[in-house]
Amino acid sequence: MSENVTHWIGGARHQGPAERRADVYNPATGKVSGTVDLAGPAEIDAAVRSARDAFPGWRDTSLSKRVQILFRFRELVRANTGRLAEAISAEHGKVVSDAAGEVQRGLEVVDFACGVPHLLKGGYSENVSTGVDAYSILQPLGVVAGITPFNFPAMVPMWMFPVAIACGNTFVLKPSEKDPSASLLLAELWAEAGLPDGVFNVLQGDKVAVDGLLEHPDVAAVSFVGSTPIARYIYSRAAENGKRVQALGGAKNHMVVLPDADLDLAADSAVSAGFGSAGERCMAISAIAVVDSVADELVARIRERVERLRVGPGDDDRSEMGPLVTREHRDKVASYLDSGVEQGATLAIDGRVHPVLGGETEGFWLGPSLLDHVTPEMDCYRDEIFGPVLSVVRVSGYDEAVALINGNRYGNGTAVFTNDGGAARRFQNEIQVGMVGINVPIPVPMAYYSFGGWKQSLFGDSHAHGTEGVHFYTRTKAVTARWTDPGKRPEGGVDLGFPTNG
Ligand code: NAD
Repeated sequence: MSENVTHWIGGARHQGPAERRADVYNPATGKVSGTVDLAGPAEIDAAVRSARDAFPGWRDTSLSKRVQILFRFRELVRANTGRLAEAISAEHGKVVSDAAGEVQRGLEVVDFACGVPHLLKGGYSENVSTGVDAYSILQPLGVVAGITPFNFPAMVPMWMFPVAIACGNTFVLKPSEKDPSASLLLAELWAEAGLPDGVFNVLQGDKVAVDGLLEHPDVAAVSFVGSTPIARYIYSRAAENGKRVQALGGAKNHMVVLPDADLDLAADSAVSAGFGSAGERCMAISAIAVVDSVADELVARIRERVERLRVGPGDDDRSEMGPLVTREHRDKVASYLDSGVEQGATLAIDGRVHPVLGGETEGFWLGPSLLDHVTPEMDCYRDEIFGPVLSVVRVSGYDEAVALINGNRYGNGTAVFTNDGGAARRFQNEIQVGMVGINVPIPVPMAYYSFGGWKQSLFGDSHAHGTEGVHFYTRTKAVTARWTDPGKRPEGGVDLGFPTNG
């Protein structure tokens, strides 16, 4: 059993006893591998207080000094990618190479945050009125909280804290209780990079910790990523309490395959984007809207590829796909195979019989699965499954595919596969989704663009990272200033009129 994972408060591991703890599992074996402390009111208060006390000093730390620390953090995360990836794989289940990929994508946000001096430049207008100048400055908010999901225990927190901290805020991270270790490793790397104590804190916990942060008067803003029902809850509670909030929710990502598409590329993409990380990605492809005339051929090509997929423990180099995160989640995902068939779909590929490398039977396994002839009323289409299940919806053509996607309540990601530039251009224009791929199945924006969906995939106005991240973690102040020439008093005297420019 690995050690107990606790909080990181004021630059050190928390030493006090825990009133509540949860088990942490190794999804590949199904066995408990450790425990995690669950914060109560005292720990919540200590974490926020530590961030609040660190704020004035950090806010006033020069941009050059902040950037030096960010660069050191960047190099340390890079050097420790292997350790982080192993810790993620052991608790999440994803294969180690995929976990290293998420660390890499998180690092891209650190790269972006290293350019913060440029991003925090305000505007300046000379002589807006005679002898008067106007300018704007971007200032940090104070203590900000990040509440993150299990599926990217390093990357999603790194969408948030590098930008928040670079902008001069202090941060309290509440990671998922299912895979808490990566957050502590990141905290240690921040300390090694020279970040002052209290600027980055980690509060392990569940709903109690989340609610404590939402209610805390010293938390100025909340960034959330997770499922839609919780995102909606976070958005309304945080806003009610006067906090700035962005809450990214769940997804049902469609891939459209038009008859002129490269079907091998489409099949490769469906398998990679549907089954990578066992489908536990918010940008995973879940539904394939394929035009009837090429549907049989596409399903046949997907099947060929799925038969060759190696499912096994995340730390086995041969594995391409690992287990699901918990037994309950695996059972729920598998239940869609039965309900799909009951509601009229065809189970073309049954992942329950896919072989598992090493023969471990107690892990939370479910192989890649495909339901064909799915229709929009079925539960397997309506719900976010968040597992290795592709649903094929056969459509008559482009218009029906677009209507299907635009009628869906989620709007996170989508992709169109076609060789017709005009169709692709029309698709990018009229599709009601926040992130669009053209012959690219997982269109996760680079760090210097912003990540976020539409409709019930995002509550709030700001997407994550990129310039929207900088806007979220700062507020602007507009200054109007008059400095008179030495020895020269401005003309005028008292004037009760509303100031106008002259
Ligand atoms: P989740 O909503 O269950 O949990 C997310 C966070 O909220 C965790 O830290 C958890 O401890 C906390 N939480 C859970 N229940 C709560 C409650 N009742 N009250 C307050 N806090 C609560 O999500 P998950 O299962 O960890 O992650 C998977 C979900 O996240 C999927 O729906 C996926 O689509 C979504 N996701 C979305 C994005 C995106 O960018 N839109 C990215 C990654 C994951």
